[in-house]
Amino acid sequence: MLLFGLGVDVHPLVKGRPLILGGVHIDSELGLDGHSDADVLTHAVMDALLGAAALGDIGQHFPSNDPAYAGADSIVLLAKVLESLKARGCRPVQVDCTLLAQRPALAVHYDAMRSRLAQAMEVAPGRVSVKATTTERLGFLGRSEGIAAIALGVVEENGSPD
Ligand code: MG
Repeated sequence: MLLFGLGVDVHPLVKGRPLILGGVHIDSELGLDGHSDADVLTHAVMDALLGAAALGDIGQHFPSNDPAYAGADSIVLLAKVLESLKARGCRPVQVDCTLLAQRPALAVHYDAMRSRLAQAMEVAPGRVSVKATTTERLGFLGRSEGIAAIALGVVEENGSPD
């Protein structure tokens, strides 16, 4: 049976932090702030996959007040989500993501992000879609005060849920 989940995340853009999206370091004067590496794209993917399997959210799996996750590599956390899915008899099938960012231009990085995410999800890169849009300079995203990500995850379940 195929199960569907939605993931949404937002992080603030600040000076003095690296910009990491989908596990890819992107050259930028502003980076995302957060307890982990603040990889907003990977966080949305994790919540989409967890949501499909009704396994809660990443805040429950990796609490933001837990020092163990300070500066954590979100791709490593995604691999842990995969293990949680497997324990539940599920495996990722595909994910479709949209980043909302006024800048920097992200299209040149799509394939690298797809590869990193696909590797952690143990699927082919062709099963991972990454795209982006601006908000036409509207709102906090349009002022480059943050970056948001939305992901739809599809998971295949073997057998019936608990
Ligand atoms: Mg987050």
